[in-house]
Amino acid sequence: MNWKVPLADLDIGTDEILAVQKVLESRWLTMGSVTQQFEQEFAKKIGARHAFAVTNGTAALHLACLALGLGPGDEVIVPSLTFVASANAIRYTGATPVFAEIVSPKDLNISPVAVEKRINPRTRAIMVVHYGGYACDMTAIQTIAERHNLKIIEDAAHAVGGELEGTALGCWGEIGCFSFFSNKNMTTGEGGMVVTNDDELADRLRLLRSHGMTTLTWDRHQGRAIDYDVVMLGYNYRLDEIRSAIGLVQLNKLEKNNEQRRKLTRHYHSMLKKTLPQVETPFENYRGKTSAHLLPILLPQAANRRKIIEFLKSRGIQTSIHYPPVHQFSIYQPDTRPNNPALPITEEVGQRELTLPLYPAMTGEDVALVVNTLGEALEAFK
Ligand SMILES: *Cc1c(COP(=O)(O)O)cnc(C)c1O
Repeated sequence: MNWKVPLADLDIGTDEILAVQKVLESRWLTMGSVTQQFEQEFAKKIGARHAFAVTNGTAALHLACLALGLGPGDEVIVPSLTFVASANAIRYTGATPVFAEIVSPKDLNISPVAVEKRINPRTRAIMVVHYGGYACDMTAIQTIAERHNLKIIEDAAHAVGGELEGTALGCWGEIGCFSFFSNKNMTTGEGGMVVTNDDELADRLRLLRSHGMTTLTWDRHQGRAIDYDVVMLGYNYRLDEIRSAIGLVQLNKLEKNNEQRRKLTRHYHSMLKKTLPQVETPFENYRGKTSAHLLPILLPQAANRRKIIEFLKSRGIQTSIHYPPVHQFSIYQPDTRPNNPALPITEEVGQRELTLPLYPAMTGEDVALVVNTLGEALEAFK
């Protein structure tokens, strides 16, 4: 498709190309000094003690679950209104995801009240997802976690650059997980980062990322080590120098691009309010500083979403749905039926939600085109 306004667009230019060229010319392509620099600068930017670059955001979530020692018999509370990777990562360890309701159509994040209702003696952790880059109520979630002695994992895949009360999203829980997938606020194509302030968890994350080996190929290349032991069952979730080099350039653009996203979001909200009051806009009020990753709207109850998506597509405008609720997927049915009651707000949002285009290079005219064309679609398919 040749979209007039795509859902998302990259900000990739000469700096990334030159950075990649430099790595290729260095003749060291796997995890080494560029990745170390990427980890250090990322950690500094968000104020985390430790950051480990990994192959993707899903690997980051898997390592977080493993580092916390989750396994069969353990339960982890997670929203259903998320990308399937959040729940899958819990299942990789043998633990069970237990889905909790979101707050409301105005706040699509997991509800602290719903979280508390799902706690039982098997509950070990809460995995929050900062939907669209909008902060969950972390103060309330932390209080609950402390009261019940639970760990917090943050799926901050949408939230890079977001903050709450002066603390970066991803730094509120025991472990924070980021994704640098192609459509995220900063990208390396495929890639991710797992962060923690806890030294012991950091040691486990470091080992788990690379086969549980006590030294790395890089250390041996540097002449720092000759042999190694394998002390736990680890994985190969390493990131390479090529993508770390892209990540370093992208990290420098993050602040400026997130500011642009916030500006466009304000523009969307004021235009939608004025011209399409029948459309609901979640997160008009939000906590802290958002990374404005997504622009979700809720269509009127009676609107035909499929036809509206097709209409927008015929005009060159790409939209998406975030998300089809995870508990309704086939492979989650047997898991969720016995112990999970219905999630009516999640299910309603799953049916009415439409994600509009949002990327830093969008113009005010693009926003107007999207909103006006959406208006035509709503008129045509009432
Ligand atoms: C993108 C995403 C992930 C997974 O990240 P990958 O890098 O694609 O593996 C996990 N959770 C959420 C909410 C995401 O949007």
